[in-house]
Amino acid sequence: MRQPRTRVAIVGGGVAGLVTATLLRRRGIDVRIFEQTPQLGAIGAGIQLSPNGVRVLHRLGLQAALARTGVRAQAIETRRWADGTRIARVRHGVACTELFGAPYYLIHRADLQRCLLSVLPEHVMELGKGCTRVVEGPDEVALHFADGTTTTADVVIGADGVHSAVRAAVVQDEPRFSGYAVHRGLVPAAAVPSFATDPRVLFWLGPRRHVTYYPVRGGDIVHFSAVGASNDARTGSFSSPDEMNELATGFADWHEEVRRVVTAAGSVTRWGLFDRDLADRYVTGRIALLGDAAHPTLPYLSQGANQALEDAVTLARCLWEADPARLAPALHRYQSLRRPRTAEVHRRARDLARTFHLPDGQEQTDRDSEMRDGQEPEHLSWLYGFDADAATTPTPGPASPVPAPVPAAHPIHRL
Ligand SMILES: Cc1cc2nc3c(=O)[nH]c(=O)nc-3n(C[C@H](O)[C@H](O)[C@H](O)COP(=O)(O)OP(=O)(O)OC[C@H]3O[C@@H](n4cnc5c(N)ncnc54)[C@H](O)[C@@H]3O)c2cc1C
Repeated sequence: MRQPRTRVAIVGGGVAGLVTATLLRRRGIDVRIFEQTPQLGAIGAGIQLSPNGVRVLHRLGLQAALARTGVRAQAIETRRWADGTRIARVRHGVACTELFGAPYYLIHRADLQRCLLSVLPEHVMELGKGCTRVVEGPDEVALHFADGTTTTADVVIGADGVHSAVRAAVVQDEPRFSGYAVHRGLVPAAAVPSFATDPRVLFWLGPRRHVTYYPVRGGDIVHFSAVGASNDARTGSFSSPDEMNELATGFADWHEEVRRVVTAAGSVTRWGLFDRDLADRYVTGRIALLGDAAHPTLPYLSQGANQALEDAVTLARCLWEADPARLAPALHRYQSLRRPRTAEVHRRARDLARTFHLPDGQEQTDRDSEMRDGQEPEHLSWLYGFDADAATTPTPGPASPVPAPVPAAHPIHRL
């Protein structure tokens, strides 16, 4: 008799949800995505995709699309807030491809979303389906939606971000406001003329603030994120004169280039930055969390989406290799493969929340010299060299597969 197909419901159509659905569908698994947004719209910000994430996208067949829409970063450069002194420059261009087998891309989020939707099979995603709660039973999971409807699935994947509704069925906790907020905007390429010949990520570090900017859309525009200490935890607020003023005032004594960039946007968005303490578990018997829903991480290592891509590979593989009658061991395998690695990224990102924003003084001088000492891209092997597919492949012998070990801390990990 033919085995019944596992029915998988994914809550959330962000990076994590879209990629997991595509991978599962390609293996013939019955998968649906329930996304709260009624209409997929333009997402006005950039995102950095490191080789560990790009590798996943390449295997989905997105090599040409990424090369067309992304900008290859030549380096990540760190500078001092007031005078622009270079602290460190880590080569990324050819070095990334040679050392880690994939480039480092800077891409507009709307372009990334288009790439991901181009490989998602039709009729997989339902829009306007905000999930309010999931209830796990012995044989299936019930999903309840804000529009009053319900459905069931054999497995539910919570890919619904840092404020996840699915998470409540796995872990009892709340998002934690970090005491920082970010303003994001897009400005004309002319704001940073040096990107024309040297496209790279620029990090400017200063007391209680930092700014990141880089080119997207073939270098036609520049995306910036300006992070500052704040008591205001609001998320998703859009441009108002108050916010433009907050930005201009906060960076008034910074280097002229930073002031030019952060004041050149016609509009900005402002988000309070949240994470959560790392949970002991990412799964139950029939529910799995992934991406920001599983391990929401402060954005300072630029890894949230890259880790979500790694999660997607591992979870999809654990599920398609599973006996449909025994799904719980497959979900626990996913958890044991992904928790150590995502815990390390989560921890390092929290460390950066402090070290990125140090006041000028001895500790800041020490941080800068450590960064200078660790400029070789090889130091990023633990992060960029990780291959989620290989780490999920069962190794011969009795031991269960474990992720690549994380080497001892090195200064460059602060980047
Ligand atoms: C300032 C900033 C800069 C960043 N820069 C980078 C970077 O350069 N590189 C990087 O890798 N990461 C970066 N990140 C992190 C990255 O954006 C996230 O880690 C990533 O988007 C997580 O993807 P996800 O699919 O798990 O969640 P999300 O992108 O949050 O997607 C969740 C989806 O679920 C939907 N949803 C939510 N609740 C429900 C519900 N109840 N029912 C149905 N649907 C729901 C949402 O509408 C959304 O579509 C940055 C984050 C910030 C804040």
